[in-house]
Order: sequence, then structure tokens, then C-alpha cells
Amino acid sequence: MRPQSPENILQYRGRFAPSPSGLLHYGSLIAALASFLDAKSYKDANNNQGKWLVRIEDIDPPREQAGASKAILKTLDAFGLHWDETELYQSDQHQYYRDILAELKHHNRSYYCHCTRADIKAIGGLYQGHCRQQNNPNNNHATRLINTRGVSNFTDIFQGDITCDKGMASEDFIIHRKDGLFAYQLAVVADDVVQNITHVIRGCDLLEPTCRQLTLFNTLKSIGLSCTPPQYGHVPLAVAANGYKLSKQNKAPAIDNNNPRPALIAALQFLGLQPPIELTHASVCNIITWGTQHWQRNQVPQARKITLNG
Ligand code: GLU
Ligand code: ZN
Repeated sequence: MRPQSPENILQYRGRFAPSPSGLLHYGSLIAALASFLDAKSYKDANNNQGKWLVRIEDIDPPREQAGASKAILKTLDAFGLHWDETELYQSDQHQYYRDILAELKHHNRSYYCHCTRADIKAIGGLYQGHCRQQNNPNNNHATRLINTRGVSNFTDIFQGDITCDKGMASEDFIIHRKDGLFAYQLAVVADDVVQNITHVIRGCDLLEPTCRQLTLFNTLKSIGLSCTPPQYGHVPLAVAANGYKLSKQNKAPAIDNNNPRPALIAALQFLGLQPPIELTHASVCNIITWGTQHWQRNQVPQARKITLNG
């Protein structure tokens, strides 16, 4: 496992981490734009902007939509969200994830679990550590983290103090799935570590999982991995008037690579900025520059859900 170098820790490094299970919609544009603006408006002591990276979270091939990764990158480009460094594909990280799993196992921080979904449902939905003592490998097991340092609260950049459900925070959650796929929690933390991510700005749908990610950071630290958890900031989710998360089926404004300006302006407004009317006619590059110059964390709405009129 690669250690972090101190100079990298001091530098702002944000990221946008889409899953290629579909194309970008207005909701994901908001998350991308927020993380981009937070990184690019940041200035360190030497007046350097933050870095903004893109990571394609393609660890779940059955849920992947053919061509989505390329299409997402194309959309980001069309919207003026140009990333630093080469994009990282989680599908290239398998050996690294396996190494982390092996370290956790070696330090007795994980165990094999054979329970089925139905078993867990029967005991109320939260896993109670049933297989902790047995720890039998066979060819049909998941791997769970021994969760002795469950983080149940943190301070979010935009949403303030967040308390996660205690049961969920202390659950021995899955880090390697029965079907052989790496769990999202494992991959996301492993890559935030290896990419030296200092700030994770994303949608409020990932508020609760943040506690698990912090728990995993603590656990990795406790087994000797040099890692500092990033600061987390969750922006409200754009929801359609019917209350559902945005998707193509409801009233999500279509994200059109050939006409990025209206969606960009709407996303800036959604994030609490007040773009002047002239900006509607500006180039994509100028809109992004304006956003970078005017970005203010405290303007981002606190509400977890904002209803779109549409
Ligand atoms: N890949 C996740 C998603 O698209 C986001 C992961 C993250 O930002 O931490 O929902
Ligand atoms: Zn079990």
C-alpha cells in the first residue's frame, strides 16, 4: 500500500466519482459542479488552486451501462469541468483492494460471513455479528469488517453536525461481497486514501455511508496505514416535484452536451449562487470561471432535499 507524502496532504485534492451505471443527469451535474468549484475556488498558502480529479467507479460490471464511462467524461468536458491528472478507473485497482482486504484479515479486523439477506431480514435488518466467532471460509462468503470503532457523527462542510443511525454505524458492514465484487465502502475509501483526497464533496444521498467510510479510515489507520480522512461536504439532492430523486423518468432537465449553459446556470442557482442575467449568454468557460470566483460554501442550501419546480 502506498503511503501518503506530507506535501500531498497539504494540497487540496477533491474528486468526482461517478458510477457508470448511467449517464450524467442534472442531479449528478450538481455534485460534479459543487466539487469542482470547491476545489478550484480554494487557494493554498502559495495561491495554488485545489486539484480536482475524476474517478470512474466501475466496480460493479452487472450494473454498468455500456459506453457510460466515456459518455460521462465527454459530458464533463462539454460542461467545462476539466479534471487534473489522469482519471482513475476502479476496475484497474483490484489488486490494491485485495491487498487492503488481506491486511485487514491479517490484523483480525474482518471475518467471513455466510448469512443470507433473508437471515438478516429475519433478525430485523441489521447484522448482529453472527459469524464473527466462526470465521469459516468457504466458496460462498462475504467479508465483513469488525466494527469496533464505529463512527456515528461528523461535521459536514455544508450540513453541519450529522449523527448517523447508531445501529447502522456500529454494524459489521460488508467490505467484500459474496459474488466476489468489492464493496463500494471499501473501494471508495481505498481510493480516497491512494489518491490523497482531502475533500469529498458529493450529494446528500451519501451522508449516512460517510460514517462507515470514516470507520474504515480509522480501522486502516489502526493497522498502520498512513491516512487522514478527508473533510466531507454533502450538497442537497435535486428532487423532482414528486419527491423522487432525479432520474430520466421524472422531470430531470435533460443534460445535453450540445447545450450546457442553461443547466450550468440552473446548477449554480441550485447551489445558492446568483449568476447575473448576462452570464446566460457567456461561454461555458466564463460561466465556470464566474462560479469559481463566486463560490461560497455558506450559500449552499442546508436542506437535504430541494424540490424542483418542473
Ligand atoms: N460512485 C458513487 C455514486 O455514483 C459516488 C461515490 C462518492 O462520491 O463517494 O453514487
Ligand atoms: Zn454472518
